[in-house]
Amino acid sequence: YSVDLKDEAEERRVLEEGLREALADDLLELHYQPVVRTEDNMVVTFEALIRWEHPERGTISPDVFIPIAEESDLINQLGAWALNRACRDAMAWPKSVRVAVNVSAAQFAHSDLISIVTDALDRSGLEADRLELELTESVFMGDGDTIDDIFRALKELGVRLALDDFGTGYSSLSYLQRFPFDKIKIDRCFVKDIIESAGSSTIVQAVVNIATVRNMTTTAEGVETEPQRMMLRALGCTDMQGYLISRPVEAEALARLLQVQGVS
Ligand code: C2E
Ligand code: MG
Ligand code: MG
Repeated sequence: YSVDLKDEAEERRVLEEGLREALADDLLELHYQPVVRTEDNMVVTFEALIRWEHPERGTISPDVFIPIAEESDLINQLGAWALNRACRDAMAWPKSVRVAVNVSAAQFAHSDLISIVTDALDRSGLEADRLELELTESVFMGDGDTIDDIFRALKELGVRLALDDFGTGYSSLSYLQRFPFDKIKIDRCFVKDIIESAGSSTIVQAVVNIATVRNMTTTAEGVETEPQRMMLRALGCTDMQGYLISRPVEAEALARLLQVQGVS
């Protein structure tokens, strides 16, 4: 058992070192997954998803290396890199399409977040309204007053805020009341069983109802089948994302995706 623990610690250290080098050598990439409007299937957002192709180990999932970055100072560097790259990439897209960037709770607590976001907007020239930050419920674990200040500052900047993976964390409906989110992203786990008779459709319906009253949009994550799409549409979910629509693709492939959509 203790040998396993030692191996695990060693493995994390090796990955941390590798990640540090990948950042320095500009070996990380952003792929983008479209989010489409349920009503007419038009792309409204591209979500930036970080990709690391390790020279020896092949593709390493962000679910593996983001937590490692979060335990060191790397997450702030990595987060700044992703924000800058995503804002720059978005400048090549039609103005009707926003870019969404995932921001980890560790970054959120960091005192520089506001200046990092401001910087990425200034350098790229992207309008603040076209940048959407995806936050998870774990950001609420920090100090209450600080969190309020950060939310206020982000709103003043004019960026949009999405609550990612909704329903999987320490969900409390009071967060939706207290913080100014523009969008709720309903986690894949509720979409997965949505067409089953004892499935999650009533939960999704409840979230959609709350969002509607509070003027927020809803994105269903992980939509993989046509019946799921039809059910989500019937429930009034405004946007959808998932393999049924498209997998995440390289930045270079986006132009073609938009062409198919007739967006220019
Ligand atoms: P997320 O933000 O909830 O992103 C959605 C994840 O679901 C992505 O995994 C995406 O590829 C995957 N996905 C999309 N559609 C489907 C589907 O239909 N079926 C299934 N099974 N999966 C689908 P990915 O790219 O592996 O990213 C995992 C997580 O890593 C993200 O979850 C996000 O929390 C984190 N992450 C990715 N990029 C960044 C980043 O730049 N910064 C930070 N802080 N976190 C990131
Ligand atoms: Mg996300
Ligand atoms: Mg998510």
